[in-house]
Amino acid sequence: MKTPFYSDNHMHSSASFDAAYSVEEMAAASYEHGLSCITITDHRDCPVFLFDNSRAMMGVSRYSTQQAAKDWQGKLEILFGVELGEPLQEKRAAQEILRHGPYDFVIGSLHNLEGEEDFYFLNYEQHDPRDLLRRYFSELLEMVLWGQFDTLAHVTYPLRYMPKGMDLTPFADAIDRVFRTLIQKQIALEVNASGFRQEIGESLPGEDLLRRYHQLGGRLITVGADAHAPADTGCFIPRTCSMLRRLGFTEYMIYRKRRPCPVPLGEE
Ligand SMILES: [Zn+2]
Ligand SMILES: [Zn+2]
Repeated sequence: MKTPFYSDNHMHSSASFDAAYSVEEMAAASYEHGLSCITITDHRDCPVFLFDNSRAMMGVSRYSTQQAAKDWQGKLEILFGVELGEPLQEKRAAQEILRHGPYDFVIGSLHNLEGEEDFYFLNYEQHDPRDLLRRYFSELLEMVLWGQFDTLAHVTYPLRYMPKGMDLTPFADAIDRVFRTLIQKQIALEVNASGFRQEIGESLPGEDLLRRYHQLGGRLITVGADAHAPADTGCFIPRTCSMLRRLGFTEYMIYRKRRPCPVPLGEE
């Protein structure tokens, strides 16, 4: 039986503020976990970029990824990417980060609303979650209209931290606008598998939204476990792939030199 090709295209090394393991350690674990390809996508959050050690870390991320790519050549493909956080909240930083390439892959992320803290830190008794979600989908749409990235990361990220059972029905139109704009601009939608190992228990976005994306004609998908530690590399990627097959997708994309390269999802 042919070994399936699994790729994990969202992962952090110690060149991210919230991760502590070297690219080498992440690569070794990825190989152990049977992955054929990974993309290192360290955080570069635009609102803080001009004020912390991001510039130095950006160099470290690139250098260590290039070194590891050489060390693992022939065994594990290692691509160089970036998780570009909140680009519209500090556009000068976003442009500087983008110029730092060439990247294989740029992930666009939104972890906090303009002027607010990361959804992780918000107190949901003081903030109305529905109001936050309304603002979230509206800022996502602005980001996609700007569009200087290859995939939109972890849509529904706030649900990880909000009270359980939030109803997304009131946001269906806003979500449709985000999906339609992605499709029109040929920007991919990320299926972030981290939710499977967290309390939320589903991918970000979850099945219902992925079904809707497919219904609207969306076919460009990227997949990542968002590992911040070696043990999580490739985690739930096979499960994510079988979910995507079930929803009618036939392939996902790996980005090399910022071009989508399809990987067939194959048979169950
Ligand atoms: Zn993120
Ligand atoms: Zn991430």
